[in-house]
Amino acid sequence: SSSSKSAAAVPVMNKQELQRYDGTDFPWSKEVEQHLKDSFHLSKFRPLQLRAINLTLSDKDLFLVMPTGRGKSLCYQLPSVCSKGFTLVITPLVSLMEDQIMYLKSIGVSAVMLNASSSKEHAKTVMAGLTDVKAPFKLVYVTPEKIAKSKLFMSRLEKAYNANLLSRIAVDEVHCCSQWGHDFRPDYKLLGILKRQFSKVPLLGLTATATSSVLKDCEKILCVPQPITLTASFNRTNLYYEVRIKDSNSDVSISDIASLIKSRYMDQSGIVYVFSQKEAESVSSELQKRDIVAYPYHANMDPDDKSRVHRKWASNKIKVVVATVAFGMGIDKPDVRFVIHHTISKSVENYYQESGRAGRDDRPADCIVYFGFSDIFRISTMVVMENVGQQKLLQMVDYCQNLHRCRRSLMAVHFDEVWDDEGCNKMCDTCRHAKDHTSVDITQHARQVVQILELASSMDEKLTPLKLVEAWMGKGPAKHRKMIQTTTLSRLQVEAVIVQLLLQGYLREDFSFTPYTTYFYMKLGRKAPLLKSQSHTLSMKMRTDSGSAPTSAGLSPVRSF
Ligand code: ADP
Ligand code: MG
Ligand code: ZN
Repeated sequence: SSSSKSAAAVPVMNKQELQRYDGTDFPWSKEVEQHLKDSFHLSKFRPLQLRAINLTLSDKDLFLVMPTGRGKSLCYQLPSVCSKGFTLVITPLVSLMEDQIMYLKSIGVSAVMLNASSSKEHAKTVMAGLTDVKAPFKLVYVTPEKIAKSKLFMSRLEKAYNANLLSRIAVDEVHCCSQWGHDFRPDYKLLGILKRQFSKVPLLGLTATATSSVLKDCEKILCVPQPITLTASFNRTNLYYEVRIKDSNSDVSISDIASLIKSRYMDQSGIVYVFSQKEAESVSSELQKRDIVAYPYHANMDPDDKSRVHRKWASNKIKVVVATVAFGMGIDKPDVRFVIHHTISKSVENYYQESGRAGRDDRPADCIVYFGFSDIFRISTMVVMENVGQQKLLQMVDYCQNLHRCRRSLMAVHFDEVWDDEGCNKMCDTCRHAKDHTSVDITQHARQVVQILELASSMDEKLTPLKLVEAWMGKGPAKHRKMIQTTTLSRLQVEAVIVQLLLQGYLREDFSFTPYTTYFYMKLGRKAPLLKSQSHTLSMKMRTDSGSAPTSAGLSPVRSF
């Protein structure tokens, strides 16, 4: 809401004061610079990293909101080696801890973890290390359960605190505190004890996905009054976003993907995301037939096979992974040049995350999604049980269908970000090809569709999206054909018009459950009655370029009215 937004926007420090923390004249600045190069082997900081590091080294409480893969961990890992004692890191998932500890060990930074599966021996070593003045561990990773449930651990922390050895607390994935977030974890709710007990220790909360209201909630739960909040832009300027229309009736998309991979992405590494495990298998074998080194990846595979595919891809022995969304966690390959979605994601947020695995090295990369009519309803079935599943899916459909606005601006609204028109720089197909889109009047088409649905309903029949398309194109049962006006639009145009009517509320989806499956039907939406008025008009932007996209042939341009 606007009130929570403005509350969060009141900075504890003003802009100028904050800018001071981008400086390199702090007592620790030399050491920070040295560790960046010599320990972490990085040449320079990314936006906001140095500011965050200087703030936390100045003992300020801090919330850092930054997209995944931008380098939040460095903002507590680097300070840990410039401080006395150790940094306590709370992480929700053991697999994330393992990845980090492996990495830290490889660069010679001592780090340990404690979780439910730690051995007694190991736990003992860690506990002893916490109060050792020589600070044998610079980073101690724990799951939130350790704080919530282990009195022994809390008592050791208290000892460490009293000996000034607890230098900093980092709460990773801090949005997990809030019930309003998308990933609430009950044990995070109890982490307020840390700041209440160890009030002098600066806390650093990190997340990729938190609105200002979720952050306010986290603030309360963690008992950090007025932390400084740093928010990095979600705009990934090096990524080119593109939507291609997918013909539901053929595997044109596969050939299209294959030729992209063989030409534009020759010798480059990428991911093709698919809808199902079955498609991971079939699409990868289709690509293999076309001489592309592609392998499937999905949740149901043998764990050894999974890690082998991941490893081989990471070391460029496999060019393309054809994966379900199970391929995501812990993927940190910097030189992914393309992420192609063979099927749309279930929400814009998911799409941003999945496509965002491209171009982490800051060099140009492409994010292409194939938008197919029937895929909408396949995903609908999957998300029908989720509270806002349908709404989120339609937002994704709007991202694909909308030719009025920059793809980036359509994403930005989902991240609470105020969009700056300069932010795209023609790095999306809408901005780049605006001249190839024309506004067309679809009022008469809309009336025909409504008429078909009214007729069906008067005959007590329900129409699936596919049946609706067929009826309108004159391919339905003969009894329908006599009574309705069929269309001369192409199939892709028919689909585009129906999607548009769905997005604008002239049509809506209706579900029906059987013990075996969920059926989807098209119904009249709340705005359908408006079409009864002769003065009501409706238009949409359509692609006029050739290629796989629908053209406006058969549709009258708006200007002729
Ligand atoms: P996040 O937690 O924000 O998702 P990570 O901390 O896991 O991201 O970092 C993602 C990747 O970015 C890591 O491979 C890391 O080494 C790299 N990285 C971090 N900071 C920099 C930097 N300043 N320059 C280049 N790469 C960086
Ligand atoms: Mg992280
Ligand atoms: Zn754009």
